[in-house]
Amino acid sequence: MEDKDFVQGKKYVVKLKDKSVMEGVFVSETSIHVFLKLKSGYNAGFEKKNITEYKEVVDRKISRDKKVTKKYDSKKLHKILILHTGGTIASKVDYSTGAVTPRFSPEDLVGMYPELMDLASVESKLVSNIPSDDMNFHHYNMLGKSIVEALKDKKIKGIILTHGTDTLHYTSAALSFALECVPIPIVLVGSQRSSDRPSSDAALNLLSAAYFITNTKSSGVYICMHENMNDEKCVLLKGVNAKKMHSTRRDAFKSINTKPFATIDFNNKKIDYKDEASSTHGNFSFKPFNEKIRVGIIRSRPGLAPEELKPYEKFDGLVLEGTGLGHFPIGFIDKSTEHNKEILSFIKDFADKKVLCMTTQTIRGRVNLSVYSPGRALKEAGVLGHDLDIITETAYVKLAWLLSNYSRNEAKKLYHANLRGEISKRSEVEEYEL
Ligand code: ASP
Repeated sequence: MEDKDFVQGKKYVVKLKDKSVMEGVFVSETSIHVFLKLKSGYNAGFEKKNITEYKEVVDRKISRDKKVTKKYDSKKLHKILILHTGGTIASKVDYSTGAVTPRFSPEDLVGMYPELMDLASVESKLVSNIPSDDMNFHHYNMLGKSIVEALKDKKIKGIILTHGTDTLHYTSAALSFALECVPIPIVLVGSQRSSDRPSSDAALNLLSAAYFITNTKSSGVYICMHENMNDEKCVLLKGVNAKKMHSTRRDAFKSINTKPFATIDFNNKKIDYKDEASSTHGNFSFKPFNEKIRVGIIRSRPGLAPEELKPYEKFDGLVLEGTGLGHFPIGFIDKSTEHNKEILSFIKDFADKKVLCMTTQTIRGRVNLSVYSPGRALKEAGVLGHDLDIITETAYVKLAWLLSNYSRNEAKKLYHANLRGEISKRSEVEEYEL
């Protein structure tokens, strides 16, 4: 078998020299190998020279269209829209170089996961195809607009956003704020291994998100990724308190300072709600980001120099990621710490004109600016964030969104209000793993 006769997204039965028979959806090929996605969800590669026979299996469930992939049985199935933004979930390995490059089109994704068609009629649309690290407020607005557009179609039960994992939680927070009272579930899905790798987590993440959408009464913005290292269940996290906690593990995303929203056992078709199922009441509104707003994040550390703060003078807002309860080196103790005065005076000046918020680099826990004298000095200087447990990423997004849509004084007030579940009432420390 030498010619490229396989068509992406179609299902084949392949007979091999050793008499084994494999059935799966064609994913890709090189001059030497053919890769199929098997029913188990795993991909398998075969040497072309070992293939003795192959035949296409006509499967009613897979339909193709050049631009949009659809299958309607609207009486029976809900409709899901997949908005595709890029990242590893949309990448495949170039087996000649080993590099991971974004090359899957939305049609490929749906073609690769035919099980999606059992759950819903699926439409997919390419919004962008970029690594999530390159995203900015412009992309959040683009996504928001696409969602607003999609909401006009009342048949859509929910939206899946395929997204790179690196900044997935920034986007989920951004959409949580920008789309107030969104009436359907919006689920962001990424993967830590590209979709054509045998170890890819993409299939379970996508199918679990689709299962959740078609079986829930909840609305709002969520993230759906692996619950643990087993390829068994996924966890659904609220969009405003999730953090990427590991650079490679499939269960990289964890809920911070609060419970995960639910777990999804796709194989046994079960959703286990850990938190109250939320459905949004109130009028839906889309308040986009001002793409010109500039908010910075400054991380404190021993040896922080005042010169490092200067470049932020012209910014509209700053998140200070302090140590412990929310501290910065602002004390003047002896000659060696003299320059810390300048750090405090920068903070005072900035807080007078703009907005400064404190978060903590401890990851879990609450900021408390009342315990130690440096904390009290920061609070007196006008630093916000006392008694809040907003994670830094969400604080950054929230501040930028508030400054985009409200006056400085309103933004300062609203920063302390629990707008989308980003602040937990009281820390029940024992409940959470460290
Ligand atoms: N760098 C990639 C991204 O965030 C990683 C991933 O997709 O998981 O776009």
